[in-house]
Amino acid sequence: MAYIIAEPCIGTKDTSCADVCPVDCIHPAPGEEHFEQATMLYIDPAECIDCDACVEACPVDATMAEDDVPDQWDKFTEINRVYFEDGHEAGEKMVAEFLASKG
Ligand code: SF4
Ligand code: SF4
Repeated sequence: MAYIIAEPCIGTKDTSCADVCPVDCIHPAPGEEHFEQATMLYIDPAECIDCDACVEACPVDATMAEDDVPDQWDKFTEINRVYFEDGHEAGEKMVAEFLASKG
């Protein structure tokens, strides 16, 4: 399992989660490439150790264990994974598609 970041991060992106993550698996963090352009932050599922620290840190409850993702944010499990497997643009494209699908 891994933790994921879902829709409430979009436009919030205050980076508290990245500050507390003990394995630095939340990106793009401030100062990293793509931080300014990113609509949200993403958790690398290959690196996350399921420590739960980001859940407490997030002011808008955008982080959660993969098993706790509600149906309406189902897509974000894939979005977080794709961001790291296929890169920034692929992840951001999926976020844009998610938002467009909501109308
Ligand atoms: S659960 Fe822990 S390791 Fe995983 S993203 Fe959150 S803070 Fe990082
Ligand atoms: S703390 Fe929450 S809103 Fe802030 S960047 Fe992390 S997931 Fe996004």
